Amino acid sequence: MQLDLIIRNARLPEPPAPASQIAPVPGPLTDIGVHEGRIVAVSPGLAASGPEVDARGGLVSPGLIESHFHLDKALIADRVPLQPNRMIRDHMERTASIKHTFTPEDIEARVRKVLEQCVLHGVTHMRTQVEVDPNVGLRGFDVVEKLRREYAWAIDLQPCVFLQEGWTGVAGADENLVACLERGAPVVGGAPRYDRDGTGQIRRVFELAGRYGVDVDFHLDGGYEVDQLDYPLVCEITERMGLQGRVAFGHGSKIACMPVAQQLEAGRRLAQAGVSLAVLPATDVFNGGRHMEHSVLRGVTDANTLIEAGANCTLSTNNVLNPFTPYGDCSLTRIACEYAHIVQRNGPRDLGLCFEMITTRAAKLMRLDGYGLAPGCAADLVLWGETNTHDVIATCALPLAAWKRGRRLFRRELPALERPGA
Ligand SMILES: [Zn+2]
Repeated sequence: MQLDLIIRNARLPEPPAPASQIAPVPGPLTDIGVHEGRIVAVSPGLAASGPEVDARGGLVSPGLIESHFHLDKALIADRVPLQPNRMIRDHMERTASIKHTFTPEDIEARVRKVLEQCVLHGVTHMRTQVEVDPNVGLRGFDVVEKLRREYAWAIDLQPCVFLQEGWTGVAGADENLVACLERGAPVVGGAPRYDRDGTGQIRRVFELAGRYGVDVDFHLDGGYEVDQLDYPLVCEITERMGLQGRVAFGHGSKIACMPVAQQLEAGRRLAQAGVSLAVLPATDVFNGGRHMEHSVLRGVTDANTLIEAGANCTLSTNNVLNPFTPYGDCSLTRIACEYAHIVQRNGPRDLGLCFEMITTRAAKLMRLDGYGLAPGCAADLVLWGETNTHDVIATCALPLAAWKRGRRLFRRELPALERPGA
């Protein structure tokens, strides 16, 4: 059998570990055969010829997935004044104040830079939240559409169009969103906390999803007021419209402020309604608890608890170097490690779930076809120096190489120590 690529001596992501397991148990060695952009065989001692890569016992995973990422407002942290006081929570307003200055050229330059950094960190798929508020119009959407086509060799981009700064009573807002859906945007989103009629916005988003047959992805239940929750309404409408599996939301910080029994109840409700949650630890921890002077709430929901209750959850970067999150290097393993650190999760089972949240669980949120390591799946692959998923998360590992539909995207040389006399 002649193939386009054979990766030998690879280990695949191990199945979920029992909760009591202390040390990671790497899987057995196997070979992966790739032809015409797809995985055609996964077996040890694969009898085939073609260009070979020796994984040297390292983990080979499917490509990483950013399930919630704002490309259009990345890399603007240096354009707004610093907050004079950490107790002021005005990141949305400070971003909004400069959005009218975004030109197509400016957005394009920033999106290119961030996209390429994501690819170099092993990301092969991304859902990107695109703002179409009247102060920026469709400029961000136009750029994302252009670069979605241009970068298809490296990454699959799935735009989610939404209004960040309010919808109800905002002249031109609804028209912008509808224009994007008319042009084929596959996901419609929302941010009801910034709308003077948040419930009205939720209902309007679902109305548009029904009319255009698109998926739904909100920013929801950020904050700490557990007596004002939006996710129950979202679950209810999802079920009524038969959209189970096609609805997601990001943040969910309020769930972090509930007793564990209620967190488990929330997890069961999300599972029942088929609504996924993307936890966004970098943004949530930066903005959470700003009303508190000390003993600050960190506002990062423990997705592992919700997963144990049956829900589908993911971890994603959300923002890079902007007022919402003035940090970031586009490393999704760093985000997952940061999350585990904040919610105090460790060990092979917990960190194995974290790895699922940036791969298979994110694929489920985005409803990706042909994602994974089975024969027939697209050969979107990442090679790691580590032998197992636990170590990738625990050490914020950097990928050594990645392939998109069987074509290599990059190779990374790790630094080697130069010893005296060597
Ligand atoms: Zn977001």
